[in-house]
Amino acid sequence: MNTKNKNVIIKLSILAAVVLITFAVKPLLFKETSTDNNYLYVYFINTGQSDCILITTPNDENILIDSGDNGDEDIVLGFLEDKKITKLEYVIFTHPHSDHIGGGYEVVSSFDVDNVIMPDIENDTKTYKSLVDEIDEKNIKVTYPDDGDIYNIDGITMTILSPVNSDYGTNMNEYSIVCRLDYGESSFLFTGDAEAVNEEEMIEAGYDLDVDVLKVGHHGSSSSSTKEFLEAVTPEYAVILCGKDNSYNHPNDDTLSKLEEVSAEIYRTDINGTITMYSDGKTITVALEKKTAKNSEYYIIWAGSILPNIYYNVISIYCK
Ligand SMILES: [Zn+2]
Repeated sequence: MNTKNKNVIIKLSILAAVVLITFAVKPLLFKETSTDNNYLYVYFINTGQSDCILITTPNDENILIDSGDNGDEDIVLGFLEDKKITKLEYVIFTHPHSDHIGGGYEVVSSFDVDNVIMPDIENDTKTYKSLVDEIDEKNIKVTYPDDGDIYNIDGITMTILSPVNSDYGTNMNEYSIVCRLDYGESSFLFTGDAEAVNEEEMIEAGYDLDVDVLKVGHHGSSSSSTKEFLEAVTPEYAVILCGKDNSYNHPNDDTLSKLEEVSAEIYRTDINGTITMYSDGKTITVALEKKTAKNSEYYIIWAGSILPNIYYNVISIYCK
């Protein structure tokens, strides 16, 4: 190859890289300044062995699903403040265990919260009582949803799929609010700590569980994620929220095998840190705080010096 041709190829490669970086990273850059951009954002925040998920709609309406554990308040509040968020249109507390409502009091007292959605089950803990007292104090509307309820929020459809029944005895996980979120062709399923019994009920109720992204139930425990359920969901991406070296051994090895059997790409907060997904309604792009050696070949790695503050690794899929 002569020098002229080489130069042309180099120039074209640089141009291709610039185009790729511009289009792939643009939404992330935009969002740092909270500008409208037609993207739905879902942040699986790394709070360790607890759940906290922030959803930001194209016109910057915010939905928070769970609020980390006791002691995670600084991470949760810091993340929301970094995103310049002052108002949360919806906060969903999936169920009243501390690893889901731990930072709830601080969230409700620090932000302008319009609506709280929670299951109709109480917990006899200081964490729960201080949370509901603060919700009451601030006069925030509380909804105990029924399965089948639909919320239309800024072009996003959120459908409640569980709990299907009203009495599960003392197992609070089984009261977990499960919701499906649709934006264009992209779809997500958020499961809290819903268990096998809930998964079976959702299948029996005939709900459409087939989504692109599954927040794996109960931190990847063996008590959730039955084969039948995963075959109904067939997620492209499975996200597990769990702490590094946690004492529960989450995620369970069998759960990981079952997810692999349905060909899900697995992301974990204990390995990948905070996991960001954004969708234009046709594709979903995943941005990881930390890449894994296993998947590194699929990622485009940015040079930090070119794009300050962007240190994510990015991969995209077309939605179902
Ligand atoms: Zn939990």
